[in-house]
Amino acid sequence: MVNPSKPHIALLASPGLGHLIPIVELAKRLVAQHGFTVTVFAVTTGAHQAENKLLCSATSSCAGLFSTVALPNVVNDSLDIDPSAGILPRILAMVRCTLPTLRSSISDMKVKPVAIIVDQFGIEAVKVVAEEFNMLKYVFIASNAWFLAYLTYLPYLQKRVYPNTPLYIPGCKSIPGGDLLDHTFEPDSRAYRDFVSMGRDITRVDGIFINTWEDLEPETLGTFKDGMSLNSIVKVPVYPIGPVIRRPKEVAKNKLTEWLDDQLDESVIYVSFGSGGTLSTQQTIELAWGLELSKHRFIWVFRPPTENDSSASLFKSMDKADESISKCLPNGFLDRTRDRGIIVSKWINQEEILQHRSIGGFISHCGWNSVNESIVNGVPLIAWPLYAEQNMNATMLVEDLGIAIRPKVKPSKGLVRREEIEKMVKFVMDSEGFGLRKRVKDLQISANLALKEDGSSYSALSKVARDCNKKFQSNQPYEKCN
Ligand code: UDP
Repeated sequence: MVNPSKPHIALLASPGLGHLIPIVELAKRLVAQHGFTVTVFAVTTGAHQAENKLLCSATSSCAGLFSTVALPNVVNDSLDIDPSAGILPRILAMVRCTLPTLRSSISDMKVKPVAIIVDQFGIEAVKVVAEEFNMLKYVFIASNAWFLAYLTYLPYLQKRVYPNTPLYIPGCKSIPGGDLLDHTFEPDSRAYRDFVSMGRDITRVDGIFINTWEDLEPETLGTFKDGMSLNSIVKVPVYPIGPVIRRPKEVAKNKLTEWLDDQLDESVIYVSFGSGGTLSTQQTIELAWGLELSKHRFIWVFRPPTENDSSASLFKSMDKADESISKCLPNGFLDRTRDRGIIVSKWINQEEILQHRSIGGFISHCGWNSVNESIVNGVPLIAWPLYAEQNMNATMLVEDLGIAIRPKVKPSKGLVRREEIEKMVKFVMDSEGFGLRKRVKDLQISANLALKEDGSSYSALSKVARDCNKKFQSNQPYEKCN
């Protein structure tokens, strides 16, 4: 159903819950705050049941203004992509396969959308449908402004970049060599070429949304403003509209929430590596020991260990790999920690957990949604980056925002030992971590202010809504007044 007096907007989410969740939340905001009708196209993978649940609950909560179209599941293994090419080429190829269906679905719509919003990996869709159907085009970077700076500056690099050399980006903090995505050093690789063309294409839309807010990254956002350094590359408006995250109103009681209810305030550390992160066997054992030695209470979202692939569960259902959890853990661990730890297999409703008053810390892979969710709930972090831009995110959390600590060795490069894990957990959860907690609570306030009706993120989205309304009015057939 489409409200005939308001714009209809199409949104496209690329594969992965880290992309689907913020796109769905943005769509819900367009409905709730601006009365728009939305259709969310989701390239689903079937890796997590949460995909379907998310789409169904959004549809039912938005009183007929929210429709979803699941684009055919793409079997990961049947893609014509060398598995070693990396995550980006795989995601782009998955989206590419669904473009004919996207095009024909839009073509069949009686009320055509006035705009399309895609996440960065859906950028090729813009070329396919926006011109043909005369739509405004926006890209939603499901990450932060520093990553946008990296992405848009990459096509203009004059020199080859080498590991351990920081990457200078005009107007913002340089990226330490060790934090750069691996393809940055391999200009002949497919991933590099894909990143460069993505970086160029996203500057050719009508506006770029980012899942950040003015007070979180004032300096980096400043470099995109009129007349500033990166404005010569990104000439279109950049709209910080974040944090765009799920915020459950009511949480149904279950065993887990009841257990949390019984714990003291800020006494439980939550451990999760996002929708895709997995650890090696040895690292899983060290982490278990570290948690046990810390003597703190914990909730751990557990995935079966995988060797040499830290994003193994991103698009693959781990159901078949459901080995007995106890086999992957140190002998006797489950018995010894029975009274103070809970292990959940593969998936948890993270937004419900992080908002609980008893959560006091988060061991996180630093996916940007998880970071935003942690900040909005005032929870300090132990940064455990694994893949994609997560090392950059970790550096931002530790060095710029001061709301996290991180192990000495990069978890994607080496083993983090139990003694260090024990020490980090104690630091964050005990009084030593007071500074981190204070700063994250200050940021929590600033995030909430940005989302209020006169806040910076609310206003940024309202500007786009005005442009969509104008486009909608101009598309209306001319009515003659006699
Ligand atoms: N998530 C969740 N339960 C889990 C794991 C992840 O609800 O067990 C959600 C998490 O709250 C976040 C998203 O999935 O909204 C993951 O996005 P993020 O950017 O943190 O990491 P990614 O999975 O994209 O690497």
